[in-house]
Amino acid sequence: MAAGSFRFPRIDFSPELKALQQEVRDFLASERASGGYTPVADGWAFGVDLEFSRKLGQRGWLGMTWPKKYGGHERSSMERYVVTEELLAAGAPVSAHWVADRQSGPMLLKNGTEQQKQEILPRIAAGECFFAIGMSEPDSGSDLASLRTTATKVDGGWKINGRKIWSSGAHFCHYMIATVRTGGTRDEKNRHEGLSQFLIDLKGPGIQIRGIKNMAGDEHFNETVFDDAFVSDDCLLGKEGEGWHQVTSELGLERSGPERFLSSAITLTEAMRRIGDNPDSREAETIGKNVARLKAMRRMSLGVSALLQGGESPVVEAALVKDLGTKFESTLLNDVRQLIPTEAIGQSTDDYARTLSEGLLRVPSSTIRGGTNEVLRGIVARQLGLR
Ligand SMILES: Cc1cc2nc3c(=O)[nH]c(=O)nc-3n(C[C@H](O)[C@H](O)[C@H](O)COP(=O)(O)OP(=O)(O)OC[C@H]3O[C@@H](n4cnc5c(N)ncnc54)[C@H](O)[C@@H]3O)c2cc1C
Repeated sequence: MAAGSFRFPRIDFSPELKALQQEVRDFLASERASGGYTPVADGWAFGVDLEFSRKLGQRGWLGMTWPKKYGGHERSSMERYVVTEELLAAGAPVSAHWVADRQSGPMLLKNGTEQQKQEILPRIAAGECFFAIGMSEPDSGSDLASLRTTATKVDGGWKINGRKIWSSGAHFCHYMIATVRTGGTRDEKNRHEGLSQFLIDLKGPGIQIRGIKNMAGDEHFNETVFDDAFVSDDCLLGKEGEGWHQVTSELGLERSGPERFLSSAITLTEAMRRIGDNPDSREAETIGKNVARLKAMRRMSLGVSALLQGGESPVVEAALVKDLGTKFESTLLNDVRQLIPTEAIGQSTDDYARTLSEGLLRVPSSTIRGGTNEVLRGIVARQLGLR
């Protein structure tokens, strides 16, 4: 790719997409009015509501693009985009199923056995089966390929030993897709070789999940310890030694969605609700500036989706959207906080005060999770031939 040639194709919603958008909006409005959910900041990462996930499954809004024979709905990725965008913008509590729907299901579809697809995918699509991501380790975050957790071949399967860290939701998830070492070494030269991915039942023997509280008090992520944890042969996902290739394509799914700029949008909406129809000039300027930024991010994010739908791999564009989007989320919260100061009350029944305080405590993690912004800029620089 030549420097300056970023691709963000323009997408206009068809009447069918607009109708779907309205359907989701109507559903969310009625759920919110009836107490079916309470808006939450960063709801795709921190809003766990098992009942709400099940309701989305019943409406056919999970596993949307997957084959019907595996419980999916064979809809387009743009239809999926429309649904996820509305859920995010409304601050819906969609965290329980988010990873399974976004990346683990598609990974299983690509690399799982026929039996795994038949057994697990319909449960994900029903909003009843949840997944954790097993990439990071205590000494391996950005430098993922330096990971140490091993899988050793034994009769009929593999024994896994080591530690994963920051495993979001592992305490309630059914499975983890973990990237571990089945060969190779941690040396600079060989580190990308000998990595493999496994489907691990988190209720299996030899697995201990220890919660780690974050600074907002959320019980969100965990340390997952494997002590001779046995998994059968069919739990090897894809090919032995192909883990690096597989995990980078998993990261592509993880980084490219609208959740990377919409996590704080609910607070902007609640601020606008507070201000009403007659903003003063300062309010109008702050709201106008942030809505314009949001529109620009959305335009870029839709462009990434269009490229993905066309079978392309928009690594640079997705990295740019995550970098700009996560910085935008932080600026937005600080802007509205200065506009409408409020006490930081996480339990407040006032939706503005609560989502603002939740958002302020959670937003620092947005430039870290899914790969830090510095690392993403390194990817952009490499793709542009600048390093
Ligand atoms: C809320 C949250 C949820 C998470 N959930 C999960 C999960 O479910 N599963 C999972 O596996 N992981 C998860 N993570 C872990 C996350 O992916 C890692 O924290 C992230 O990849 C960074 O790794 P690290 O924390 O080890 O930091 P380090 O890699 O040690 O980085 C420290 C600092 O050095 C900088 N740095 C490192 N390397 C470079 C480089 N090459 N160039 C420039 N700067 C560099 C980084 O940008 C960062 O500022 C989660 C993290 C958070 C915050």
